[in-house]
Amino acid sequence: MSLIVQKFGGSSVANAERVFNVADIVTSTYKEGNNVIVVVSAQGDTTDDLIDKAKEINPNASKREMDMLLSSGEQISVALLAMAIEKLGYPVVSLTGWQAGVLTDSNYSSSRIRKVNTERIQLELDKKNIVIVAGFQGINRYDDITTLGRGGSDTSAVALAAACHADLCEIYTDVDGVFTTDPRIVPEAQKLDEISFDEMLELASLGANVLHNRSVEMAKKYNVNLCVRSSLTRAPGTAVKEAVKVEGMLVRGVTKDNDVARVSLCGVEDTPGKAFRVFQMLAKKNINVDLIIQSIGRDNKKDISFTVQQTRIEETLELIKANQDVIGYDDLSYTTEVSKVSIVGAGMVTNAGVAAKMFEALYDAQININMIATSEIKVSVLIDQGYEEKAVKAIHKKFELG
Ligand code: ASP
Ligand code: MG
Repeated sequence: MSLIVQKFGGSSVANAERVFNVADIVTSTYKEGNNVIVVVSAQGDTTDDLIDKAKEINPNASKREMDMLLSSGEQISVALLAMAIEKLGYPVVSLTGWQAGVLTDSNYSSSRIRKVNTERIQLELDKKNIVIVAGFQGINRYDDITTLGRGGSDTSAVALAAACHADLCEIYTDVDGVFTTDPRIVPEAQKLDEISFDEMLELASLGANVLHNRSVEMAKKYNVNLCVRSSLTRAPGTAVKEAVKVEGMLVRGVTKDNDVARVSLCGVEDTPGKAFRVFQMLAKKNINVDLIIQSIGRDNKKDISFTVQQTRIEETLELIKANQDVIGYDDLSYTTEVSKVSIVGAGMVTNAGVAAKMFEALYDAQININMIATSEIKVSVLIDQGYEEKAVKAIHKKFELG
């Protein structure tokens, strides 16, 4: 007998019909003799709607109260799915994050899971119950409800799979799996049969909205057998695993990310420790810095530019302004009118010319590059906002990914 964790995203449980479709997938798996833990997200646009409701009342609501509010979306889903499964005549129990023993840190609205106490889930599985767990939420040491950040239900699922030593963790969504790029932009995009954890991690962090990046991090760390597939077509999907065979498939995917902002510090004193100060300050606030460029010094001054998530721009600017004396710079400027486009693929580093080919595609499309960053398995460029879809199309074509 196997233990299978199945996670269903918001679109997969958006209405009564979809809830019954999920109930059917879950009970079929159970009927085959498996133990099943199910993780669900809030229905459809529920989380966005709740955020709008909060804004009507108080746009500056505390993160603690936001978590209290947003976690309610998943609580609705677990109850409804359990009711559907009850109706089909199977033993089932729904649990909130805290009932399921999901313990997190106290970083409200972007908490990390610290530990999962699996006793309750185990007890329910022993009773032969199908266990439905609310995704996206946990509880901290003060018994407050916390949430894991947008898209966090994937991470709930992987964490439960790791903690309960599941044989398989299936992430069900409304697309057939992981694609070479967003099929809504490039219809020729191909579904990948498999992808490595490292590639997936890059794709997830670079804006491919398939999996929450922490879920991939965790799956890699605990070697969780992970796959992404469609709850609608039920086709086999994409397996995410440690190593995959790469036959000439150097570039696996192209992504775009509009949630970026560029910050520039001009006239920074050209002495050791300046970059360190700035980035340490941001790191302490959990603000992720992505692309970075530093100009060469002239007249004892240099410029440092970097990108952060657009959603963190206010915090970033406040922090830098508040520390102008400590850092020492002349001007601070920023723009949110930028987008990041990236290519990802294992083994890029050993192949000269991959970056050049990407730049050529952008040149052919007459798209200007503002910043560049490369790693072993990715190349990212920052371009002006509005050109990202054109860029994705041009690059996807250049690498013949269709
Ligand atoms: N409902 C949450 C969100 O929309 C979590 C999730 O869907 O994974 O971000
Ligand atoms: Mg998601």
